[in-house]
Amino acid sequence: QPVIVAIDGPSGTGKSSTSKAVAGQLGLSYLDTGAQYRAITWWMVHNGIDIDDASAIAAVAGKPEIVSGTDPAAPTIHVDGVDVSGPIRTQEVTSKVSAVSAVPEVRTRITELQRSIAAGAGNGIVVEGRDIGTTVLPDADLKIFLTASAEARAARRSGELGQGTDVAATREALIKRDAADSSRKTSPLAKAADAVEVDTTELTLAQVIECVVTLVEE
Ligand code: C5P
Repeated sequence: QPVIVAIDGPSGTGKSSTSKAVAGQLGLSYLDTGAQYRAITWWMVHNGIDIDDASAIAAVAGKPEIVSGTDPAAPTIHVDGVDVSGPIRTQEVTSKVSAVSAVPEVRTRITELQRSIAAGAGNGIVVEGRDIGTTVLPDADLKIFLTASAEARAARRSGELGQGTDVAATREALIKRDAADSSRKTSPLAKAADAVEVDTTELTLAQVIECVVTLVEE
């Protein structure tokens, strides 16, 4: 019986690092759903679609072909055959992804893709995102909701972005994106009623990984 693990939470809680490590340790596939939303956002920007025009986004939401590689040791993301793993992490995409992700036609499209990837993962899969436990895979075997203080999240994200990052600006941008993700009408960032909440503020990455692995094995 393949095991399905849903890991949700806001940005900077360690979702990606935790999800990859847990999948690697347990021999499961790994899906970064944020990368898929970033990829479709990159495609919209690349094709000159007006990000403020939800109906323009909706009209072309089905066009880009998005392919996710689910090896936790080397996850990949391609749009129309182009490797976009670098371009989807730019500040431009990061600042526009919430608006694109809020368009219902985008969510329907990406949710279908996520469900088919999860259904095809032989041993099982760790899927990380914002709405996995509530909407995409409500029957997941284990649902985790990661949280952390705004300070801890901004500090981690600044660390990822590298030296010279403005921590205060990063903090504001993170808070703004999480507020947008939490307040959209279609499948917002939310903790499922049956999710286990793990506050990572005072925990090391190794401790969070161990905590989740233990929960999967229980
Ligand atoms: O996880 P990451 O920060 O890469 O996600 C980027 C954005 O993609 C989020 O801020 C959110 O707008 C969107 N997203 C989403 N639903 C998911 C995963 C990500 O709306 N399941």
